[in-house]
Amino acid sequence: MTSDSQPELEPRAEVLDTHVHEPVTRVDVLIIGAGPAGLMCANALASVGVDVRIVDQRPVRVAAGQADGIQPRTIEVLQSYGLAERLIREGNQMHMCAFYNPNASGILERTGRAPDVTAPTARYPFEITLHQGAIEAIFLDSMKARGVTVERPVVPTSIKLSAEEDELRDPDSYPVQVSSGCAPFTF
Ligand SMILES: Cc1cc2nc3c(=O)[nH]c(=O)nc-3n(C[C@H](O)[C@H](O)[C@H](O)COP(=O)(O)OP(=O)(O)OC[C@H]3O[C@@H](n4cnc5c(N)ncnc54)[C@H](O)[C@@H]3O)c2cc1C
Repeated sequence: MTSDSQPELEPRAEVLDTHVHEPVTRVDVLIIGAGPAGLMCANALASVGVDVRIVDQRPVRVAAGQADGIQPRTIEVLQSYGLAERLIREGNQMHMCAFYNPNASGILERTGRAPDVTAPTARYPFEITLHQGAIEAIFLDSMKARGVTVERPVVPTSIKLSAEEDELRDPDSYPVQVSSGCAPFTF
């Protein structure tokens, strides 16, 4: 990668020989970043028994909002992981949007209303609003029940790919090494 702030990608063999003295932790999948995407991925992999670890640079998890609206098809995906019931219980159902604008006197008045979602055939024909901290908590609790927690604060500093053809072809090898200032991961 080109930016100074990005981890370097280079052959691993030389670095293994000369620089690494820490014990190495092996894992099949390492996820860097525990936002909604990373948590979704970690939970999905953990739910089918894949050996996965997830790290994040933030010392604590998100407490409040950002991604606050969950669309019908996404609720269906969460339902397939057994997470929709809690989402619907804790969130608010949003069926309709109202639009307000100032009238000629400068007073706010409602100028329109429209369905919030246009998916009448969806199993959940509404949007769920719930702050990102609570959405992430649903994933975190599900992962915890499967023995996976977010390791934080962890900031990877380098990623090395093995230069050994045999190692790269071997499905049982761990040809990628990530260092983070603590014990490196290979996967
Ligand atoms: C104000 C605001 C409102 C929003 N409202 C909505 C909404 O209503 N509905 C909706 O669907 N979306 C909404 N979004 C968008 C939503 O927040 C993003 O789409 C979503 O957070 C993206 O998830 P992500 O997991 O891809 O990335 P992020 O949420 O950005 O998560 C990335 C994670 O990776 C970690 N990380 C990054 N780099 C490293 C590194 N080098 N080492 C270790 N960890 C690292 C970060 O700490 C972070 O926890 C909103 C966004 C904002 C800013």
